[in-house]
Amino acid sequence: MAEMQIRVYGDPVLRKVAEPVTEFGPKLEQLTVDMLQSMKGGDGIGLAAPQVGLSIRFLVIGLPVEEDGIEGIRLLTMANPMIVEESEEIATCEEGCLSLPDINIMVDRPEWVTVDYQDLQGNNLTLKADGMLAVVVQHEMDHLDGVLITDYLPALKRTMMRSKLRRISEQNPTSTQE
Ligand SMILES: [Zn+2]
Repeated sequence: MAEMQIRVYGDPVLRKVAEPVTEFGPKLEQLTVDMLQSMKGGDGIGLAAPQVGLSIRFLVIGLPVEEDGIEGIRLLTMANPMIVEESEEIATCEEGCLSLPDINIMVDRPEWVTVDYQDLQGNNLTLKADGMLAVVVQHEMDHLDGVLITDYLPALKRTMMRSKLRRISEQNPTSTQE
């Protein structure tokens, strides 16, 4: 089991459009374990493969849930996710990102989405996500297209945040300036 290094703002891999997953089974299972490890280390609830330097369309989600007073984690892995339906209603949520340490941004997204995806064995599945799960799924899917939450900022706010982003980028050994 290996904790993988989280790539942060400025790393070019975060801006690439990721390639489809074509290999399922044990390799993807191992990647899931490694990514969950990295995600827990960073206290996140979701992680996309580009955030650990792999430009493939794969993501993991570990969402805290409570049912009948029992706390647990809802674990979800998605290969090649695709939004097939989304609500017209918009929900606004403050989002953070392991690749953007100490930055929180209000993001508007469809309140619910229906997503087609494949599991670790390559089986086709559909998920209808709402609430927090809808937010996490859409946030992680953005990573697969090279989109970061800072892209949702109005131009003026992005300018104001520029020095903070530059600091993150400069601390990152694998970054090129963005
Ligand atoms: Zn993120």
